[in-house]
Amino acid sequence: MTKERVIILGSGPAGLTAALYTARANLEPLVISGSQLGGQVSITYEVENYPGFPQGSTGPELVESMQKQAERFGARVVVDEVVEVDFRRGSPFRLKTYGEDYEAEAVVVCTGASPNRLGVPGEEAMIGKGVSFCATCDGFFFREKEVVVVGGGDSALEEGLFLTRFANRVRVVHRRDALRAGETLKRRAMSNDKMSFVWDTVVEEIVGNGKVEAVRLRNLKTGAAERVSTDGVFIYIGHFPNTDLFRGQLAMDDHGYLQTDARMMTSIDGAFAAGEVQDPVYRQVATSVGQGAAAGMMLERWLASRE
Ligand code: NAP
Repeated sequence: MTKERVIILGSGPAGLTAALYTARANLEPLVISGSQLGGQVSITYEVENYPGFPQGSTGPELVESMQKQAERFGARVVVDEVVEVDFRRGSPFRLKTYGEDYEAEAVVVCTGASPNRLGVPGEEAMIGKGVSFCATCDGFFFREKEVVVVGGGDSALEEGLFLTRFANRVRVVHRRDALRAGETLKRRAMSNDKMSFVWDTVVEEIVGNGKVEAVRLRNLKTGAAERVSTDGVFIYIGHFPNTDLFRGQLAMDDHGYLQTDARMMTSIDGAFAAGEVQDPVYRQVATSVGQGAAAGMMLERWLASRE
């Protein structure tokens, strides 16, 4: 059993900022990366709305800098995944990863969120064979090809625009006739020659034999069905919080987001949370960073109050 003062679960912007703040308070936090080192932003090509970067930054560059900054003050980042926790009895908290058993006086849960699935036939079987949730990871394979992007939010448009660098044609299939995305992205997407929109339409099936060949679409207003040939399907229909590990231990809302108070504390004393795992509303790098900073500061005060 390895004993730590502070363990941070997750290495996205919230986790790395909580690490920076607790490291600067001399608490030598241990960050357990989770399955995606750097979190969701590490697979985002461009981040244009994080302040301090007038030219924007790539997602990987941004989180790498955050990690280096936290490490400079004594944070340690291990690439491992927490598979079991025992938080019920409070501090010290027990955690198991693939490689190690830990005990921590205080924890910050920054496990983030994962992409929702459509739940249609063909989706699961063809992940990695034309079905993708990450344009940054897989866009390159669609050079000179045609792809479908599902969703009408910022992610769908941002990643769809990224895909126009490779693909000849990007069709955005959206279930309504108005986009949820913000104005800037909307303008850029609408004026991109390679992008087109299929309104009021859902994907009912992803068709293929070992790799994606087509999608079956249904227009929700007319009921009309059509089969559209495509080489890839990129799905951006929102996220769900990564909170399975904490079920029955930390209080959650109806959608599984952790509940936190104004100090970023969960329902258990000494267990804090920050970032998308407890934020269904803002979900920005900037807000996750702010929540991570707040959690780090409150954790330091909480530990000090016990001494
Ligand atoms: P989102 O804003 O929740 O949008 C999800 C989209 O998927 C919506 O258009 C929704 O349709 C659609 N959808 C949901 N479930 C569906 C289903 N079962 N079938 C078909 N369509 C479905 O998610 P997001 O785009 O990932 O963005 C998440 C957050 O991150 C937002 O706050 C966003 O502003 C932020 N973000 C910001 C940037 C940026 O600022 N550059 C980039 C990426 C993300 P409806 O519209 O009909 O609900």
